Amino acid sequence: MTSPYFTEEHDMLRSQVRRFVDEVIRPNGEAWEETGQIPRTVLRRMGELGFLGIRHPVEYGGSGADALSSAILAEELAHSSFGGFTVTVLVHTDMASPHLAGSGTEEQKRRYLPAIVSGEILTAVAVTEPDAGSDVASMRTTARRDGEHWVLNGSKMFITNGVSADVVFVAAKTDPSAKGSRGISMFIVERGTAGFSVGRKLKKQGWRASDTAELVFEDCRIPAASLLGDEDRGFYAVMRNFQNERLVLSGMAVGEATEALRLTIDYVKNRKAFGATLWHKQTIRQRLAMLEAKVEAARQLFYHAAWRMSRAADAVRDVSMLKAFAGELVNEVMYTCQQFHGGFGYIQESAIERMVRDARVLSIGGGATEVMLEEVAKRS
Ligand SMILES: Cc1cc2nc3c(=O)[nH]c(=O)nc-3n(C[C@H](O)[C@H](O)[C@H](O)COP(=O)(O)OP(=O)(O)OC[C@H]3O[C@@H](n4cnc5c(N)ncnc54)[C@H](O)[C@@H]3O)c2cc1C
Repeated sequence: MTSPYFTEEHDMLRSQVRRFVDEVIRPNGEAWEETGQIPRTVLRRMGELGFLGIRHPVEYGGSGADALSSAILAEELAHSSFGGFTVTVLVHTDMASPHLAGSGTEEQKRRYLPAIVSGEILTAVAVTEPDAGSDVASMRTTARRDGEHWVLNGSKMFITNGVSADVVFVAAKTDPSAKGSRGISMFIVERGTAGFSVGRKLKKQGWRASDTAELVFEDCRIPAASLLGDEDRGFYAVMRNFQNERLVLSGMAVGEATEALRLTIDYVKNRKAFGATLWHKQTIRQRLAMLEAKVEAARQLFYHAAWRMSRAADAVRDVSMLKAFAGELVNEVMYTCQQFHGGFGYIQESAIERMVRDARVLSIGGGATEVMLEEVAKRS
């Protein structure tokens, strides 16, 4: 037993994901960073291994497992050190497709979920807009009912998997006169639908194996049956799913920070300066030991938040604290780990150089630190 939170099944899942990371991601991650793409064969292999449907219902091919299982997937994928790969998968499994599993009709679920679980199709979730990020309710994309169709107009920004996704879950205003969070609905939009296009593929500081896009909707007509969940209640679906999104993003932070410390401790134990290894300098080993302590604290909060979610308890305060703490901590860890790698840490051959770039967004995306702290303060 690795922790009081986990069962034997959880431990088994952890070792399966760990094996996949060692055998498939570590040897190929650098090549995917170069090409900016993850081969579909890899996603289908993950589907065969059951990693893409961990939370989804058994009747659609999933495992029907709990939030602790999502936590394990996030943490173990993050140990690979390849944030671009990890986020591609986690957007599909834990940020986009839960919208369908949580709010979809029987017909919608039958149509898409088995292919989502097998890795045949890749999903994205499009909420953010050029003028509406943290302030989700201020979105401007509209969906107007026209007979047996909805007509979407507007644009979405920074959408992970936006270029390669086959199906995108899109938030739009269905009642533009409604104030604040009301009047927003979710829709299922398939790639290739007339009026739906990728405006730009965005170049990024990190997460280079992950594609990020601006999406454009110009009189994009989709069938009335593409409404996902209740009309005008989409904001609440987005907020509900944010908890899972923030949990796995925090898992990425914890996993990547752990791996960076592992790499750095290994490095300083071998690197010699002034007649001894860097590890012999008390200031170095103590700073690393303190970071280990902080990361362990973040990990236990992460497990605790996942455990509360797995029991359907209100975890907004826990998850908000976790996202704020872990998103900042991973950047503190990366800064120090890069510092102790010396010049090598600035060179692209070193994993730490990429990890520093990848980690930066973890205090911004999916709920910036300041927004998370407001959620905590509201409950203080
Ligand atoms: C690589 C990447 C991938 C992404 N993937 C997706 C995706 O797949 N789908 C999707 O919908 N979105 C995605 N996003 C969007 C992401 O969630 C937003 O960037 C994030 O929510 C912040 O919104 P914003 O960029 O508009 O910043 P803004 O809302 O303009 O905020 C800017 C900064 O102001 C501060 N701030 C904001 N609000 C407050 C406040 N209330 N109090 C104090 N300070 C505040 C924070 O420091 C924040 O970082 C992605 C972003 C990136 C960079």
